[in-house]
Amino acid sequence: MKLLIDMNGLTDFVDERTLNGFSCDEWSMPKHDIRVLERCRGLCRENKCGHYGTNWGCPPGFDLDLEAFLEKYSRAFMLKRRFTVDVTDADSVRSIAREVQETIRNVMTEIRSKGVECQGFADGGCTYCGECSYPEPCRFPSALVPSISSIGLDMEGYAKDNGEEFAFEKDAVTMYGLLLL
Ligand code: SF4
Repeated sequence: MKLLIDMNGLTDFVDERTLNGFSCDEWSMPKHDIRVLERCRGLCRENKCGHYGTNWGCPPGFDLDLEAFLEKYSRAFMLKRRFTVDVTDADSVRSIAREVQETIRNVMTEIRSKGVECQGFADGGCTYCGECSYPEPCRFPSALVPSISSIGLDMEGYAKDNGEEFAFEKDAVTMYGLLLL
């Protein structure tokens, strides 16, 4: 059954401070596409990021696809924030990615505390524990923030459908996080 929520925007549910400087816009619900899912899973199996088979936020540990989520959720919100950073500085970029996950996690927790079911997604594997317990059971399932690519979402096409163009800059990175409610 789909959840119907009467609200104008996510800030009706979430304190501005929890949003941590991220903007938040309602986007169309993403569309399931089996070809995109298979392409994403293939890229994950290539394991260029080194997270495949090491984290409950990535395949094969996290193996629900978008079709399963579309059955449960009815609204999508995109969090976005631009960070000034030297994009060749891998440690700084990693630390920003952790901050993005932390924000998504905090927003998710706040929404759930108001009785609304939601799931957040960010870039890369879940970083909550530092070292994931995979393949042992996840220590904190309610804190799990899976990778957006694990659900088979073509982020570039999805962004375009919602009037958003990805910008690649040398001295800044714009980070995104998806929330399904
Ligand atoms: S909460 Fe911890 S154990 Fe669970 S997926 Fe995240 S890092 Fe792994």
